[in-house]
Amino acid sequence: MSSAKSAIAAHRGGAALWPENSPTAFKNTLTLGVEQIEFDVQLSRDGVVVIHHDATLERTTTGSGPVAEKSLDELKTLEIRGSGGERLMTLEEGIAILAPSPIVLRCEIKPGPDLARHAGIEEKVFEILQRTGMLERTIITSFQIDSLAAVKAWPTPPAGLLWLVARPIVGLIGLDRAIGLAKTSGIPELGLHHGDLTAEASARIAAAGLDFGAWAVLEDEAIAKVLALGVKVFTTDRPDAALRLRAEAGEKAGLFI
Ligand code: FE
Repeated sequence: MSSAKSAIAAHRGGAALWPENSPTAFKNTLTLGVEQIEFDVQLSRDGVVVIHHDATLERTTTGSGPVAEKSLDELKTLEIRGSGGERLMTLEEGIAILAPSPIVLRCEIKPGPDLARHAGIEEKVFEILQRTGMLERTIITSFQIDSLAAVKAWPTPPAGLLWLVARPIVGLIGLDRAIGLAKTSGIPELGLHHGDLTAEASARIAAAGLDFGAWAVLEDEAIAKVLALGVKVFTTDRPDAALRLRAEAGEKAGLFI
């Protein structure tokens, strides 16, 4: 695959550029021209799917405690830090921003505190994506294999499904067993931390018939590396830098190959 072909996903809407997972991040990502936007979903106490990364509120909002212990009304009183007063969005509010554009949604299903699954979150995400017509434009990701199994049970599949393989998992069970687990679980794609993704690892994943991508790709060096590996897609907090480096890689390929 040409190094210029890897798709770019703005991680949490481009977390290095704007407050992560915020309305501003969503709106501004659409102006960049990346192929995908990555964001995270959790469940409020009253069962509303909300866009938020951490299981708790402290780091990115004016609130505190677990998201899962707050109602939507309570969550809406909080401000997203650094946003000038923006509020955390429901999944439907995020979709309302993204739907008019052609961008692909990359929706990460997060667990609650102690990595416990939010009971029923996958079914609620399915209902929203289907109702809003976004199912065929949404890729579901998760570090949690049990969440992915729940998505496999959807009556209609999403546009894509991939397992984000945590670094300790790679260290603990090894890449080959992770590949085997994905195969037996019917998951067609792996997302690895770019530090775990060598040329040799890429070849092993490809030989097993799985697609692969990279996450946490931040520095120029890491972006250049995953482009050279020809990953299907990578998530980055710096989608602007990724676009520039991909364009440069494409120009080089056109000039010299
Ligand atoms: Fe995420």
